[in-house]
Amino acid sequence: MSDLRARHHAVMPSWLSLYYDSPIELASGKGARVTDADGHTYLDFFCGIVTTMLGYDVAEVREAVERQLARGVVHTSTLYLIRGQVEVAERIARLSGIPDAKVFFTNSGTEANETALLLATHARGTDQVLAMRNSYHGRSYGTIGVTGNRGWKNSSLSPLNAHYLHGTDRDAPAFRGMSDAEYIDACVADLRDVLATATAPNVACLIAEPVQGVGGFAMAPDGLFAAYKEVLDEQGILFISDEVQTGWGRTGSSFWGIGNHGVTPDAMTFAKGLGNGFAVGGVVARGDLMDALPAKGVSTFGGNPIAMAAAGATIDYVLEHDLQANAARVGSVLIDGLRPLTDLSTVGAVRGKGLMLAVEMVDPGTGAPAPSLATAVMERARERGLLVGKGGLHDNALRMSPPLTLTAEDAREGRDILLDVVTAVHGEAAKA
Ligand code: PMP
Repeated sequence: MSDLRARHHAVMPSWLSLYYDSPIELASGKGARVTDADGHTYLDFFCGIVTTMLGYDVAEVREAVERQLARGVVHTSTLYLIRGQVEVAERIARLSGIPDAKVFFTNSGTEANETALLLATHARGTDQVLAMRNSYHGRSYGTIGVTGNRGWKNSSLSPLNAHYLHGTDRDAPAFRGMSDAEYIDACVADLRDVLATATAPNVACLIAEPVQGVGGFAMAPDGLFAAYKEVLDEQGILFISDEVQTGWGRTGSSFWGIGNHGVTPDAMTFAKGLGNGFAVGGVVARGDLMDALPAKGVSTFGGNPIAMAAAGATIDYVLEHDLQANAARVGSVLIDGLRPLTDLSTVGAVRGKGLMLAVEMVDPGTGAPAPSLATAVMERARERGLLVGKGGLHDNALRMSPPLTLTAEDAREGRDILLDVVTAVHGEAAKA
């Protein structure tokens, strides 16, 4: 592993850090457990976000991919009929709830959002878009233009003209002390003001994550997007829900994250978990938006037979095992178990929906974000055999997005480790 660490400078931009003082090389996995190259096994509470939505090495997905590989036709472009693509598209279109929906497959979330933004800006004939503060939608020329998180905005030269709305900044001085209803009213007033003063008269779309992933699993109050949508509808502005982290039942209370707000968007984007490790993403959108593009748009690898085999098997698994219900049930074991941590002065918040949960670490004296405490918890959790993620504008939110198949027993094991390590880190910080 240490040799690999030394050679890693050839792979990534130098500014991008790896997790942990001594980074982990994942070598093999099964279910919610993963083993590193040095032989340590961990309970993985982060793999659900990274890709393995069902956990590691799910036989049904592996076998579907192997069957497709054995047929020999592994990559074809969308210029041919691909059975798996048609079947998966039909299912996603049905699951989306979007009327007359069509699906375009990509290889990543970035490309999916790029495609959705292309559809919306083309349909509305403008580069004016609305996005959310603290958002992340990808690393490409277009998607970086709707990313409202400086830590991830690697360029300001996007061709899109973005205006940022409030969603998860409840703690901003202007909103402190407001009820949810008052906050939503203030956000809607702000949207109206942005549309009246900041944008050109024609605006293409709002793109938003129902729960902000990279942003530290930050959540707008339920109902905010319904209130926004009413205003958008008055002007025909389209709504794109980025479901890359929130789709497929992750939030427990709804199959799509945006369902928690009672909204059916004009387009949704998805990626990450859908292939349970295989690269697959896409957009599901109103058919008229899809059909309005004037020229050919194909993707060589998007919707290829292997990706479709993985995606089809993953969707089957999610539905047959009712993993949305599992996310709700097992998620509540975690969140109810972790909530007492808010009594500690180093814990700013414990929040989440289903199996998408965050614990925010703050300075015990000032209440300011404390990324070093989050890092300390991560390191200690790793020593105890638990992997969690990190995120948020200030990198102080511990993120948990375990496999949707997580058992209550595994949830309790991870919860107990977290209770111990957060309490230990708190003890040291409070003493310091
Ligand atoms: N949207 C969201 C909400 C994401 O979390 C991410 C990835 N972190 C993306 C888009 C980009 O996806 P990808 O890395 O597959 O391009």
